[in-house]
Amino acid sequence: RVLTAREIRKTFIDFFTVNHEHKFVRSSPVVPFCDPTVAFVNAGMNQFKSVFLGTAAAPHKRVVNSQKCVRVGGKHNDLSVVGQDGYHHTFFEMLGNWSFGDYFKQEACAMALELLRGPYNIDPGRLYVTYFAGDKLLGIPADMECFEIWRSLGFPASRILPFGCKDNFWEMGATGPCGPCTEIHIDHRPELGSVADRGKLVNAGRSDLTELWNLVFIQYNRNPDGSISQLPAHHVDTGMGFERLAAILQSKSSNYDTDLFSPLFDGIQQLSKAPVYGGSFPETSNAALLDTSYRILADHARMVTACLADGMLPDQNQKLRRVLRKALNISEHVFAHEKLLSQLVPIVVETLGEAYPEMSAKQEAVIDLINHEHDVYKNLRESSSKAFAEVLTEFPNLDDIDLMECPGFVPAYREFQVQRCKFPNNTIPGDFLYKLTDTYGLTEESFLKLAELENMNCDLDRYRAEVSLAKIKSKESQREDGGICDVALEQRIAEAQATLTKRLRPTDNSHKYV
Ligand code: ATP
Ligand code: MG
Ligand code: MG
Ligand code: MG
Repeated sequence: RVLTAREIRKTFIDFFTVNHEHKFVRSSPVVPFCDPTVAFVNAGMNQFKSVFLGTAAAPHKRVVNSQKCVRVGGKHNDLSVVGQDGYHHTFFEMLGNWSFGDYFKQEACAMALELLRGPYNIDPGRLYVTYFAGDKLLGIPADMECFEIWRSLGFPASRILPFGCKDNFWEMGATGPCGPCTEIHIDHRPELGSVADRGKLVNAGRSDLTELWNLVFIQYNRNPDGSISQLPAHHVDTGMGFERLAAILQSKSSNYDTDLFSPLFDGIQQLSKAPVYGGSFPETSNAALLDTSYRILADHARMVTACLADGMLPDQNQKLRRVLRKALNISEHVFAHEKLLSQLVPIVVETLGEAYPEMSAKQEAVIDLINHEHDVYKNLRESSSKAFAEVLTEFPNLDDIDLMECPGFVPAYREFQVQRCKFPNNTIPGDFLYKLTDTYGLTEESFLKLAELENMNCDLDRYRAEVSLAKIKSKESQREDGGICDVALEQRIAEAQATLTKRLRPTDNSHKYV
């Protein structure tokens, strides 16, 4: 019998709590309360960061959880591949188990294999594992202990593969706890023979061979001088992609064919009357455009619901706003149904609400927020398209629809046309670029696009100097006494101004836009 997603999640939690004495810890919100360095919670370990740093006590020596994760922006930005492949989402669940100074490599690997073979009934002949190959520069040896553990658990050496720092060495940041990891990959098409025979590399991120579970062994500390030393206590931090696991256990080649996504596809189809989802991908078919839209919309509906239910707001988080607007665009332009996104919320809640009750509790608020954002976005587009139409008559060569979506673009473009004759060397000066962002609200991306459209260059160095000067000045204006009495600050302002003046050639002094 095929396990449902719900049963798969429960099996994981039960295996570690009932069989192996772990304590269940609920998912934290996707809002990174405990870690201001990331835009969203992007891994199960985020809420335990202070435990690894030694500044908080562990909730228990052994912990298990399923964590809501978002990977949009920052070190892990999977947004651009979402919809293109079958196994990267903006929102996904990470199943994880932890040892805080308790068990280490041997037990962690043995438990992982026991779970996959036993309760999940996966043929170990489909698995490949990796280990850290060592790094001469860092002076860290290969993790042969890990290699030997997998050997002793029955893996042939040909399926235990060494990889370098990029894939198999984990670091929390520039300094702090770190260590080697081992990844478990699964072959979706074992009938094609061994990976080596197929000329393929584990870790290359292929649809027929995907990374399933990452087990990190935290045993070192990275010191401020870059050197590595041993940590007194050793920890284990693991993360398994839940949707990837569901795909394997339900014998599907893509996460989107599991019961986590198919109810969403049914909903999109019934509400919009579009042709049914066909499951084709861009790499294999050029008729995959509609299917890709199905995947992106279903993915984004989950991400938006999770974020809004956790109290994140689109006007406070531009990345969330971007994803939300993309989903609104697809609803309207691909599926010809403006309210489609908000109508998918109850289906997301049906598939995830049991595991994450906050999603059920906030369902109505989430729908209201999406409808509100829909109205804001629509008004913005209507008013800017009217102004844009006027500009188009004035400057018929301008025909970029994306730029139109940038609210302050029209007045910015008018001013650009007035000033451009003063720009030397076919280059938009840094202070004008700064004015575009500061006064008109353009993003760096949109002024680069404008420059491309007009075949001009941008003085980015000078623009960045303007940005840092503005930052220093605004810090200064926030000071209570208002005056400069801080010598270091005065010095920094002088330096920033000097950089600006140095870059100004005499002829450039004729203009000052800000
Ligand atoms: P990949 O190499 O496939 O991008 P990763 O190495 O970035 O994965 P980890 O940071 O090791 O991923 O996260 C642990 C697990 O979470 C991965 O082994 C994978 O199963 C899952 N995972 C990672 N990113 C995603 C995503 N965007 N969508 C769904 N599952 C993911
Ligand atoms: Mg990744
Ligand atoms: Mg990886
Ligand atoms: Mg990984």
